[in-house]
Amino acid sequence: MTFSGTVRPVEERFWSKVQKTPTCWTWTGGKDSRGYGKFDDTSPHRFSWVLHFGPIPEGLWVCHSCDNPSCVNPEHLRLWTPKQNSKDRDSKGRGSKTWKSLKSSLKPRQSSVKCPYIPDICQTLLKKA
Ligand SMILES: [Zn+2]
Repeated sequence: MTFSGTVRPVEERFWSKVQKTPTCWTWTGGKDSRGYGKFDDTSPHRFSWVLHFGPIPEGLWVCHSCDNPSCVNPEHLRLWTPKQNSKDRDSKGRGSKTWKSLKSSLKPRQSSVKCPYIPDICQTLLKKA
């Protein structure tokens, strides 16, 4: 078995499960109960984002402007903060239990971090930050 260096098996595996249409590129591989695709230990649309645009900034999510959870067309993908996305979902009345539990697990950690400084200094530092 030889690798030429240009062959990337993971990408080949990815594209072999993508069906392109004039609008959406539909993921035909495995999906979870919400209709989101599964690819290795990530989601196909996240994989697609990394493939086309590079690493996803920490804390940001890749969402669909086309509202098709199985779509991996990079033109239909947007970076959102979880807050923006939940707003979007709530406004559409589609917030799910799964989504909410996911959201709560993403709460900023700051609240549980104990301030190493005495309160007055801490306040000053917070204002500067
Ligand atoms: Zn799409």
